[in-house]
Amino acid sequence: MRREIELKLTPSEAFDPQRWKHAVSARLGIPEGRIYHIRPLKRSIDARHKVFYRLKVEVFIGEHLPLSEKISIPSYPDVSRKIPVVIVGAGPAGLFAALTLIRHGFKPVIFERGKDVKARKYDISLLNRGEKLNTESNYCFGEGGAGTYSDGKLYTRSTKRGNVPEILHTLVAHGATEDILIDAHPHIGTDKLPGIIASIRRSILDAGGEVHFNKRVSGLLVKNGKMKGVVLDSEEEYPSGSVILATGHSARDIYRMLDQQGLQLEAKPFALGIRIEHPQQLIDSIQYHMPDRGPHLPAAAYNLVTQVEGRGVFSFCMCPGGIIVPSSTGSNELVVNGMSNSKRNSPYANSGIAVAVEPADWQVYNDEGPFAALRLQETIEAAAWSAAGRTLKAPAQRMTDFVKGKPSATLPECSYNPGLVSTSLSAVLPDFIASRLSKAFVDFDAKMKGYLSNEAVLVGVESRTSSPVRIPRNELTLQHPQVSGLYPCGEGAGYAGGIISSAIDGVRCALAVAGKPQ
Ligand SMILES: Cc1cc2nc3c(=O)[nH]c(=O)nc-3n(C[C@H](O)[C@H](O)[C@H](O)COP(=O)(O)OP(=O)(O)OC[C@H]3O[C@@H](n4cnc5c(N)ncnc54)[C@H](O)[C@@H]3O)c2cc1C
Repeated sequence: MRREIELKLTPSEAFDPQRWKHAVSARLGIPEGRIYHIRPLKRSIDARHKVFYRLKVEVFIGEHLPLSEKISIPSYPDVSRKIPVVIVGAGPAGLFAALTLIRHGFKPVIFERGKDVKARKYDISLLNRGEKLNTESNYCFGEGGAGTYSDGKLYTRSTKRGNVPEILHTLVAHGATEDILIDAHPHIGTDKLPGIIASIRRSILDAGGEVHFNKRVSGLLVKNGKMKGVVLDSEEEYPSGSVILATGHSARDIYRMLDQQGLQLEAKPFALGIRIEHPQQLIDSIQYHMPDRGPHLPAAAYNLVTQVEGRGVFSFCMCPGGIIVPSSTGSNELVVNGMSNSKRNSPYANSGIAVAVEPADWQVYNDEGPFAALRLQETIEAAAWSAAGRTLKAPAQRMTDFVKGKPSATLPECSYNPGLVSTSLSAVLPDFIASRLSKAFVDFDAKMKGYLSNEAVLVGVESRTSSPVRIPRNELTLQHPQVSGLYPCGEGAGYAGGIISSAIDGVRCALAVAGKPQ
């Protein structure tokens, strides 16, 4: 017999499956020996008053968990001799497109400009030390895409259709812990993601697909409005009647290439701001109402949103116990982002705080057509780079100083390893962003007393929140209106934001290629 029940547990009990049996036995009034298995279904924290966890579980009473319900890598069919479909980019969109194509009997052939996940690590460590940016291998480019060396938060605000549980199950089958299936706000951590990505690659290769690294797609082969293949590194050609273009929001050369080949693009609203870092202990004390969170509670997170003068200002990609990282992809620009490992155990809490950017804001660049919003983004990134001395050091200012409009004489300790340069961020950011950030911080402090603090530091700039360009596609066929067989996909094409929604879009594009109704 199986029964679903909800348990109310202390933080130390919630993460210790050994102790669940005792709680279930007491709750149901049955001996522990009759409980053969407990499957967790949902775990969420309630920190409104005294902190505790709610754990929903399925209890197997006198019955074992059937083997068929254990999560393992599915047996993918052999597609080595099937019709090849080119996928450009091995981010979440490209990888999930590949697995879906295999399930439907197509052979994915992935071209990825960056290195495999292991080789990429070396370039990322040079970047973290502030020594060198490799423009083809960094936080955005390389196997696993932008999501690999990240926090690996797996929740999505997207309300688009998509099978989120299927994506999470695939990640578990490839090595993620089952915790991601039950936590209200699941995350994997940067220490675990590379292994999962490498395991997905093995599944693709074992099924007869292909994955090519250090191969940059530099052109499309199009004849009479039909996709014919791709050009690699301006010299080699690879034929294919279907191409899934999943190159992410930082592949600016891809947008330029499409424009030069006469394909329509559109400027698109996005969001831009700064990354803020507080001592984790301060965020813990605000969120948990206690000075020390103790050994069992996770580093506290927050989610803040407000409206200032008709615009949304919101926290974005919050990384409790994380670090701020340099995520530029080109020289002469400074971009930051955040990440954390699975234990979320750094002494800092960081988050992007972004202001919605709308067409009125890029009017001055309107003669650049589809690149107007991108030009605004590039201009601000270049200003951040110049302001901080044209290295990987980042411009920074204490939070209270920013709100008061005065420069910071000193800066607090910060996790951003390449180093900070004290800068008035209002000189880096356009006024419509700086002034709204300033007002939003006051509002956030009213929501989280103590949030507005001079122990917090703002680091510039958080500019790659989503793509400033959209590659149009037909809503039903998901193909570009001018080229049949070209499937713009994922965050770079403007149809996703974050790991999960990008993976879902990869699945959708692959189903469209396979002609499967969605
Ligand atoms: C540091 C950091 C932390 C993040 N943390 C989170 C998080 O915790 N949770 C979350 O949901 N999201 C997070 N994100 C955002 C998330 O990573 C992206 O939304 C997601 O990866 C987008 O997926 P994608 O497949 O569409 O594109 P991408 O992941 O950007 O992948 C695109 C791939 O295409 C390749 N490519 C580009 N151009 C070419 C070309 N011409 N030829 C061949 N290959 C090419 C790139 O090298 C890249 O590997 C983070 C991003 C960063 C940078």
